[in-house]
Amino acid sequence: MPAAKPAKVAEQKPLSAPQKALRKLGLVRDIDLALHLPFRYEDETRIVKLSDTRDGDTAQIEATVISCDVAYKPRRQLLVVVDDGSDTCTLRFFSFYPSQQKALAVGTRLRIRGEVRGGFMGRTMMHPSFHTAGGELPQALTPIYSTSAGLPQTYLRKAVHGGLTHAARKGAFAETIPQEHWPMSLRGDLRGASHTASDARHVASHANTWHLENALHFLHHPTPDVSLAQLEDRTHPAWQRLKAEELLAQQLSQLQSKRERSLLRAPALPTRAQGLQEKLLAVLPFDLTGAQRRVGEEIARDLQRQVPMHRLLQGDVGSGKTVVAALAAAIAIDNGWQCALMAPTEILAEQHFRKLIGWLEPLLEPLGKRVAWLTGSQKKKERNDMLALIASGEAALVVGTHAVIQEQVHFKCLALAIIDEQHRFGVAQRLALREKMQGHNAAEQTQNKSASKQPALLNDTAQEPHMLMMSATPIPRTLAMSYYADLDVSTLDELPPGRTPIVTKVVSDSRRDELIERIKHQLQEGRQVYWVCPLIEESEALDLTNATETHALLTQALNKPQRSVVPRPSSKTKPDGLTDVTQSTVMVGLLHSRMPPAEKKAVMALFESGQMGVLVSTTVIEVGVDVPNASLMVIEHAERFGLSQLHQLRGRVGRGAAASACVLMYATGENGRVSETARERLRAMVETNDGFEIAKRDLEIRGPGEFLGARQSGAPLLRFANLVEDALLLDWARQLAPLMLDQYPEMVERHVTRWLGGKSDYLKA
Ligand code: ADP
Ligand code: MG
Repeated sequence: MPAAKPAKVAEQKPLSAPQKALRKLGLVRDIDLALHLPFRYEDETRIVKLSDTRDGDTAQIEATVISCDVAYKPRRQLLVVVDDGSDTCTLRFFSFYPSQQKALAVGTRLRIRGEVRGGFMGRTMMHPSFHTAGGELPQALTPIYSTSAGLPQTYLRKAVHGGLTHAARKGAFAETIPQEHWPMSLRGDLRGASHTASDARHVASHANTWHLENALHFLHHPTPDVSLAQLEDRTHPAWQRLKAEELLAQQLSQLQSKRERSLLRAPALPTRAQGLQEKLLAVLPFDLTGAQRRVGEEIARDLQRQVPMHRLLQGDVGSGKTVVAALAAAIAIDNGWQCALMAPTEILAEQHFRKLIGWLEPLLEPLGKRVAWLTGSQKKKERNDMLALIASGEAALVVGTHAVIQEQVHFKCLALAIIDEQHRFGVAQRLALREKMQGHNAAEQTQNKSASKQPALLNDTAQEPHMLMMSATPIPRTLAMSYYADLDVSTLDELPPGRTPIVTKVVSDSRRDELIERIKHQLQEGRQVYWVCPLIEESEALDLTNATETHALLTQALNKPQRSVVPRPSSKTKPDGLTDVTQSTVMVGLLHSRMPPAEKKAVMALFESGQMGVLVSTTVIEVGVDVPNASLMVIEHAERFGLSQLHQLRGRVGRGAAASACVLMYATGENGRVSETARERLRAMVETNDGFEIAKRDLEIRGPGEFLGARQSGAPLLRFANLVEDALLLDWARQLAPLMLDQYPEMVERHVTRWLGGKSDYLKA
């Protein structure tokens, strides 16, 4: 067995496979290991009688081998019958070594652990674990940790135990929450939480209260008399302690950064009457919705203050966030400053670019200003031109991808940074955009201020840009407000008028042929279709093969002449409109994440222009694309997608006046079933089109640990707490955080370090 102390690894020695695996899981510090909690337990503290076991029980027995034979039908297997005095059981092994066969010789007494199956042929266990009988029984339940390849459970168990011991020795668990402020739910004892105040005080003063160290020891090695239900649903006071700690850390660090931010300065950007914003409103081809107007005012109010705005604009797909962003940009530009808009993909950035150019450029021209465009795939010459425009300040608005935050990009005077689909960006990227302002602060000293009409800087306080983050992955509003202590939240809760609701259907993938007929129909009506290919988490390569095959299949199926009367179109035929698929070639395009950007662009252009009837895609189309003529969305293997992802994908259709549909195609797994949670997701999709309702269901189905995970929203990950179930604890943490910051700064420091380590900076972006 390797040593149980992988937490600190000597740099000279190459890491062993399990050590590498630990790192990959983020288990580096002692405290990280100590906080890696079991996801379930096994009870090895008891030996049970076979006659007391029921079908499906995981049981530990001690029994004697009465026969041991190799059978060959239906396939080669080792069959061992054991008897524990109460009954017999057959152990089945499909793979086995001669040494195991020997260990299972007739007459041997064994301790055996496995799942009991009770068919009519008698009890059986498949591949149970076993060793010689006798020896001491463990006192505590055996923890089972989530692990990864190359990291055996026994190794991980020792590592966690080591981390726990070292952390305790180093004082890492010293109390950081003043006991008089503990939440009620934490003041229970093993027999259950106490609910009256006097009880609570009594228990809290009792020696066995749930300090962090007690709680962790208990959760790693609970005594067998504990209610497993309380452990599993995390209502046990030990769990409450962990969740309280986690939520408090999150609230403290957000409040800290909010307070820091309030000391910072940003350029004040008032809205002028008859200014650029009003002019933009006048040229828009539609009236703003009430929600857009309200949110626009919220943003305008923030912008006129000298404190940097830090606002999240959330709104369902299609709710019209882009125009709100454009209006904010207009205010900044009108005040003589620059605005940057960053989008996660080139396709999306380009769409924004075109839309914003259309709206803004005619208004900017008389001012001698332009809209610049930056992406990774740009030609060097074009890029240099753009960089010059940005540095001189001639580019009042800069639209682009990650390229916007690269080192070579120097803004003359950036005052507003807008991030679309913010959850798609890493925190580091958001920080980088904020830092772009600093370039301006440095340059300002050496430049002739009279040349521009921008207001003078406040003394020598460094300035920050205002930040507007946009997201279509809405969190229920009340939750967002209490969770994001450091973020103001605006919500677009109204869709622009005239949208037809999307009809969502769930169908088995055995009905592919019907679906293809339906696609033909849509094409005949001049409509366009998206076909999203399955998501194969483990392998991008597989994703690709899959999409390529589907593309080939659809190309063939849609261009097959209907009956043999119509001649088969030659492959050289140019697409000539999509009015009659039986006579013209239907263009089926393919889009996937590994294509060179230029190719992606070409495919998108064909689809946007309407020449391409069907777009087969991996999930690259997920965010933002806007092709109103597309009216059918097919999602293959919909059971593999997350709920908010499905909703985002569905949001690609239903953007025009035509009736739109979304078909969720599912395939059953090996067991012939779709998992319960997948079924719930699909059901939710059929039942509602409302993004906020979807978000709520999502939260209920999978819990916010994932929901607010870094991947989803950029919000700090909650590992233990559940925002819905633990709403009371969240309230407690929110109320306690300001008091802690004022009265217990030293405890705050230790608490935040314990939970967020070096990551607290990240919460500020
Ligand atoms: P999202 O919030 O998903 O980013 P978009 O900003 O892309 O939504 O807007 C979706 C579509 O609705 C766009 O074609 C946009 O021009 C249009 N739109 C936005 N606001 C309105 C409005 N008030 N009335 C009509 N159409 C609107
Ligand atoms: Mg958008």
